[in-house]
Amino acid sequence: MIRAEAVVDLDAIAHNIAVLQGIAPDSELMVVVKADAYGHGAIPVARQARESGINWLGVALPSEALELRSSGDLGRILAWLWAPGDLDIDACVAQSVDLSVSSTWALAEVAASAQAAGTVARIHLKIDTGLSRNGCTLADWPELVTAVRAARDAGLIEVEAFWTHFANADVADDPYVLVQFEKFSAATAVAESLGVEAPHLHLANSAGVIGYSAARTSIVRTGISVYGLSAGVVAGAVPVVPAMTLHSRLAMVKTIPVGTGVSYGTSWLAPNDARIGLVPIGYADGIPRAASARGKVLVAGTLAPILGRVAMDQFVVDLSDHPTDIAAGAEVTVFGPGAHGEWTADDWAEATETIGYEIVTRLGVRVPRRYRGASWA
Ligand SMILES: *Cc1c(COP(=O)(O)O)cnc(C)c1O
Repeated sequence: MIRAEAVVDLDAIAHNIAVLQGIAPDSELMVVVKADAYGHGAIPVARQARESGINWLGVALPSEALELRSSGDLGRILAWLWAPGDLDIDACVAQSVDLSVSSTWALAEVAASAQAAGTVARIHLKIDTGLSRNGCTLADWPELVTAVRAARDAGLIEVEAFWTHFANADVADDPYVLVQFEKFSAATAVAESLGVEAPHLHLANSAGVIGYSAARTSIVRTGISVYGLSAGVVAGAVPVVPAMTLHSRLAMVKTIPVGTGVSYGTSWLAPNDARIGLVPIGYADGIPRAASARGKVLVAGTLAPILGRVAMDQFVVDLSDHPTDIAAGAEVTVFGPGAHGEWTADDWAEATETIGYEIVTRLGVRVPRRYRGASWA
């Protein structure tokens, strides 16, 4: 490790998968590896998930599914978000990627791809039960189901699941979650009355699995908890472990005289002669600029606060509480599992008023990922 490195512990991923499987023993976990597995690396995480016996992987984009196929993954994959004309739909259908359908245009595209490939496309019909993102509204649902029935009867598609996504599953006993359950049941009943059934139902994300036993249906879609980060208030009791540790090293250590400013805007002025260290990663690497004067990194076992603003490539920390022999090259832990006093990604999120998801997914391309764990060769 020279400047910066994110070490991903695949044993932690395997542990977290086992924890989630223990919570929902009768469900198949769909491990969500969108956005490069939340910054952890889609291909290694997918490989670990398969080794852990995971049947389903979930991604947002068709291109993300094809990247997994290119890596040699032949298992079940669902992709759920695309816009009309996406050039990857043909390849997804030809390569047996399941696709989510919320609208008649999407159904038409998938059916056309199936026709062209001479195959049957598997679709998951998404119902908008109140998140108001993707998903078919209850008003449009009968028309979509009728079109699905025709495409199915023509031998072009097969309905694998009905599904939806919660808005508030990270809150315990939230009444809106119950409203969403009710709309979901109403929609599946309408579909059945129109002659369209599906072997699977899936509703839950990580928070839904942890907080709502009724959401532990035949498939559950778990992302953030697989990576060991908080899924919200319901998740406190779940013994998952953060899988990623972000390391760096001090690029410089020096003393600046009283009154000297630090970083752009000189928002911090040394109140005394001050011992400072330079950490050579910045917002281009994913360190939130909002962590200026707020974040803390572990240097030689002791937390060092950020002084002044985080810049594109670097930030400065206060070493006044550190031993004076700390020098350039000293190891810096930006975040990790928290076992040695370092902040977690969730701590960074709290300090910068965001969520752990954003802290790990924003990690930049300049930060190499390294893997460790029993299954990693
Ligand atoms: C990202 C995502 C998930 C995973 O959510 P987590 O909160 O990370 O468990 C599940 N389903 C859909 C539709 C998603 O977009």
